[in-house]
Amino acid sequence: MTYTSSCHCGALSATVDEELPTQGMTCNCSICRRKGNIHHFTSADKVAFNKPEGKVREYTFNKHKIRHQFCADCGCAPFAEGEAPNGAAMVEINLRCVPECDLSKLEIGEFDGASV
Ligand SMILES: [Zn+2]
Repeated sequence: MTYTSSCHCGALSATVDEELPTQGMTCNCSICRRKGNIHHFTSADKVAFNKPEGKVREYTFNKHKIRHQFCADCGCAPFAEGEAPNGAAMVEINLRCVPECDLSKLEIGEFDGASV
């Protein structure tokens, strides 16, 4: 199956070719504590993006390894792109932006990003 993470106005989306996740992760790092994303990580080859030029904004900080992206119109951040420790291209899917994901049934883990 596939599922889609999209921004509120629909300009940005990432469609993922895998089963809908049953687990997610929150993080206490400086950006995640502010944004409140529920993360799911997957390999980039499973993801088809829709990010029209002029609609997608990108934000990086610290080591600039993670490309935090968000919609220029509605401000939502349905995904980010980066690399796994082995160099493989990875995508963060924000499960809060996946309408078919029942957030109340997700098993939520916590990542101590603040200590990394
Ligand atoms: Zn939008």
